[in-house]
Amino acid sequence: MDITPETPWDSTPDISARIIAAISRVSSVLRAGMWEFATAEHLNPTQAEILQLLNDRTEGVRLSWLAAQLSVSAASASDSVTALVTKGLVRKARAPDDGRASALWLTDAGKQLVTRMGSALGFADDAAAALEAQVQGQLLVGLFKLIAQLQKSERFPTLRACLSCRYFEANKFPGQPTPHHCALVKAPLPITFLRIDCAEHQPSDAATERRNWEIFA
Ligand code: SF4
Repeated sequence: MDITPETPWDSTPDISARIIAAISRVSSVLRAGMWEFATAEHLNPTQAEILQLLNDRTEGVRLSWLAAQLSVSAASASDSVTALVTKGLVRKARAPDDGRASALWLTDAGKQLVTRMGSALGFADDAAAALEAQVQGQLLVGLFKLIAQLQKSERFPTLRACLSCRYFEANKFPGQPTPHHCALVKAPLPITFLRIDCAEHQPSDAATERRNWEIFA
């Protein structure tokens, strides 16, 4: 019987599989860090994530949006929010744009807790900051492109990212090294400056958002 010996690389998974495995491992480490912090603060991980999602949001957030971001049911998100309101970390009031609906904001205590949470997860930021500037830029662009692909399959929740913002002007200066533009600050927007979570973000219409992500991907 002929036996063909395997080369050492035959069993190496595709690069796409290894990218997802690497992201998954990084995500596990971050989740463990978040879990440790949340436990010390007598929160569950979902409550900690809600506090992060409410950070820097001046206009108030609807429960349905929170549930979509967390990929949980509205009832489950509601339970977590009720616990956070009871702890004095979240405030619930009428939505400014719809008197019949309610919206959520962080209280001062909630903001302080989110600041402490950022310090607790600072180890990950330090690791990313230790990479060469060029590698950081490439990684950011690669992750944006991966998100763009996931957006096409509608498996990624809406972000407050430049690509879904009505101030984002894709390819305003075609062919230029910095083709994109932010109409809010009236400045060119290099790809390495594109934001994933911008406090000034205003949602664009769905067609424009889809077109932006497709241009980018
Ligand atoms: S920087 Fe902020 S305001 Fe400007 S396009 Fe990006 S998300 Fe919108």
